[in-house]
Amino acid sequence: MPATKKAVAKPASAKQAVTKPPAAKPPAARTKRPPIESGLLRKRLKKAYPGAHCALDFHDAFSLLVMTILAAQNTDVNVNKVAPDLFARWPDARAMSEAELPELEKAIYSCGFFRMKARSLSEMSKDLVEKFGGQPPRTLEELVSLRGVGRKTANVVLGNAYGIEAGVVVDTHVGRLSRRMGLTKQADPVKVEQDLVKLVPREEWTLFSHLLIDHGRQVCDAKKPLCSTCFLNDVCPRVGVKVSA
Ligand code: SF4
Repeated sequence: MPATKKAVAKPASAKQAVTKPPAAKPPAARTKRPPIESGLLRKRLKKAYPGAHCALDFHDAFSLLVMTILAAQNTDVNVNKVAPDLFARWPDARAMSEAELPELEKAIYSCGFFRMKARSLSEMSKDLVEKFGGQPPRTLEELVSLRGVGRKTANVVLGNAYGIEAGVVVDTHVGRLSRRMGLTKQADPVKVEQDLVKLVPREEWTLFSHLLIDHGRQVCDAKKPLCSTCFLNDVCPRVGVKVSA
């Protein structure tokens, strides 16, 4: 019987000898935790941010409407700086409806997108004068009928100037945090709002938005969330998240 040939191991090529780097970890950590329970979340947020409120220094519904339009793609701090001079010149809808567009553009230049925003302010003021006697209306349907006014702006005005809980304001912070905490899987702000109003009692809709905005600004940043010191890190499904999500 012929002797069985022993298998001779081939020498590893230089290419094979190179140790492969470990597979990259997924960019965003995901745990198997359920969404944060709404009552617990609100309790902790309220404790952490007892003074949560609208960051725009408005004095009436018209000024809040104007300032919310200006705050798009801009900071509330900057809008608060521009507002005093703006309202000294054009204190109400009638005055602003008669403003020369180039003058209005100059006054709000630092708010960004100044041409588009000046046009929105002018058209919105004209609509207010023509349809509502110069006073911002008190329903969502009427507010969104004004040129330049969307659902988010309308919710801001109703909730903060009139104390009417018409919906949850979903800005970039509210959307991001709601997804991280598992409260929604939606990206579209209107769909996010539809999920949130089912989880939060109506009397807290406006407050809930302020609480999430404060947490988004102070802790749960888009790029660098402070998960290790966050007071929600024992319950948050996305604790350790590394990128905007
Ligand atoms: S900071 Fe981290 S732990 Fe806290 S809510 Fe945001 S993702 Fe969750």
